[in-house]
Amino acid sequence: MKAVAVFPGSRQVKVVERDAPRLVQPDQVLLRILDIGLCGTDKEICSFEYGTPPRGDDHLIIGHESLAEVVQAGPAVEHLQAGDLVVPSVRRPCPLPGCLACRSGHQDFCYTGDFSERGIKEAHGYMAEYAVEQERYLNPVPPDLRDIAVLAEPLTIAEKALLQIFWMMQQRPPWLDPQTPVEEQGRGLSALVLGIGPVGLLGAMVLVSAGFTTYVYSRELPPSPRIDLADAIGASYVSSQTTTFGELAEKIGNVDLVYEAVGHSHFALQAVRVLGTNGIFVLTGVPGLQDLVQADPARLIRDMVLKNQVLLGTVNAGPDAFAAALRDLQRFRRQWPEVVRTLIAGRYPPEQAADLIMARPAGIKSVITFGPTSAGRSSGLEQPA
Ligand code: BGC
Repeated sequence: MKAVAVFPGSRQVKVVERDAPRLVQPDQVLLRILDIGLCGTDKEICSFEYGTPPRGDDHLIIGHESLAEVVQAGPAVEHLQAGDLVVPSVRRPCPLPGCLACRSGHQDFCYTGDFSERGIKEAHGYMAEYAVEQERYLNPVPPDLRDIAVLAEPLTIAEKALLQIFWMMQQRPPWLDPQTPVEEQGRGLSALVLGIGPVGLLGAMVLVSAGFTTYVYSRELPPSPRIDLADAIGASYVSSQTTTFGELAEKIGNVDLVYEAVGHSHFALQAVRVLGTNGIFVLTGVPGLQDLVQADPARLIRDMVLKNQVLLGTVNAGPDAFAAALRDLQRFRRQWPEVVRTLIAGRYPPEQAADLIMARPAGIKSVITFGPTSAGRSSGLEQPA
């Protein structure tokens, strides 16, 4: 079978031929991979800044945002059968008996750091024609989501954050009724999304549909399909090239939530200063090495204390976030059918993976497929202005 692998030793990313995997445990499932989404983590791995091959291997098969079809289910598999669609989760538990998170199935909160992640850390990923996985790591997908379910994994980032935010909001301001339906939970509150890449835009969709008055703030200037998307879902887009953080905060009023999706520490630090009273600041981007800047930690801490603020980092996701993501994809399709049609920029063959990973996608999400590609579409790479 074909697979796309990164070779850190020789600094290469290429399509390789591998034997298709087979079931070796009764609770395993053989998967035919349908779609694999590309993201910033893949870019870091293919720039040799992140990612680790499995022990003893000189390469890592990449790909962690995926959609697959069950080909064969082992005899101990309980709920899946051939033909079912699934989205695999990414992280696998560490071996330490004392890791409370991993031992209770919450490896996204692993204490030891000795977890593996498929397509990222010490485990091959899904950018291959076939893969084998245990049933417990597979999230069943309704058939009507076949065309967009590859977006479930990147959406889980926002879903995990939201699950925690709502929990915190309900524990803190006692005026928020825990019985409030999802679409009302952000009513009367403002959210500021930093970044207009896939994580930012999917986050904005979740926040708008939860009732937050949502602003998206990034460098981008119009015309841009991403800005059009933000407008189409009812968020207000503001460019950092025309409006400062201070001006933005004045426009918003109390900033109740900041959802950071850029991975740029300086930008994030500036945004902390506009977080409002009782505000929650969620960090999802992982910054690479960046220059040191001067900061005013006393002001930061003073604000955090005097304004009851919360700083929350979040990574990876558990089954509850996957279930919420799949539910929300269905809700998004009902709410914004036209927008949902544009989320996937195109489907491309594995031979184009390396180029697409390193370029900025022309649309929201570029997808690799081993099946039919989107014939007649552009290369998926943004044309120089
Ligand atoms: C993935 C997560 C993963 C994280 C850190 C992200 O791109 O979506 O599943 O935990 O990278 O490796």
